[in-house]
Amino acid sequence: MPVSPLDIERRIKALRSHARQEVRGAPYAIYALLDPGDPNQFSEPGPFDGTPFYVGQSCKIEDRIATHLRSSQHLTADSRLVQRHIAWLFAVGRLPRVAILDTAQTRSQSLMAELRWGQHMLRAGFELANNSPDFAKLMSVPEIEFWLDHSRAQMLASDAIREGVAIVHTCTCGHADRWIDPAEHALFRTQRLRLTRIAAETRKCPGCGNDCEWRLDDWNLLKAFGARPSDGGRREYPNFCDNVGAA
Ligand SMILES: [Zn+2]
Repeated sequence: MPVSPLDIERRIKALRSHARQEVRGAPYAIYALLDPGDPNQFSEPGPFDGTPFYVGQSCKIEDRIATHLRSSQHLTADSRLVQRHIAWLFAVGRLPRVAILDTAQTRSQSLMAELRWGQHMLRAGFELANNSPDFAKLMSVPEIEFWLDHSRAQMLASDAIREGVAIVHTCTCGHADRWIDPAEHALFRTQRLRLTRIAAETRKCPGCGNDCEWRLDDWNLLKAFGARPSDGGRREYPNFCDNVGAA
């Protein structure tokens, strides 16, 4: 028998409370969604309280869990594989569970841990409803670095500020590198501002007008080893995070 909307809301409440206790205030959590299985069928006890079918990471784990379960009640043409899988569980009368796999202090650590757990689950034989093909690949160190660079570039400005990331613009015709502090550009802007956006806005070299190549670097390392004179120090910026529904 399908589960009712009331059952789903009750499950969300229980999962939020479970996640809150497990995460203990850490800024990022890496989690798995679990299929509790058919209660009428015996299944071998495994390492989790159910069968993992999705691995994710979030800075708002409780809201993320609620979104997973609520959005799966109203499928559309754009619904993702994980939502379709949860909708199927609801239809056969099963309510998903959540396992908190790990916590992290920065978005970069969280992305890396998500990748490791995703790959681990696939190697352990669990089928994941994740869209990310990266989980399925055994990546070499340069590939992982490339993947991490790519993922980090999608970070929210708030994540970048939390972990002290700077955008470094390098002019292709040889003008000096420019360092952009995301905190300087995030003031009074939307909380969903991404680094890619800031980089695009600041890419033009003031020397020649060409678009610069850009990369991410550690703000403190730049300051410690760079030759650039201090511009009066980094501005303190409040922590915020509004990343519900983002990758
Ligand atoms: Zn230039």
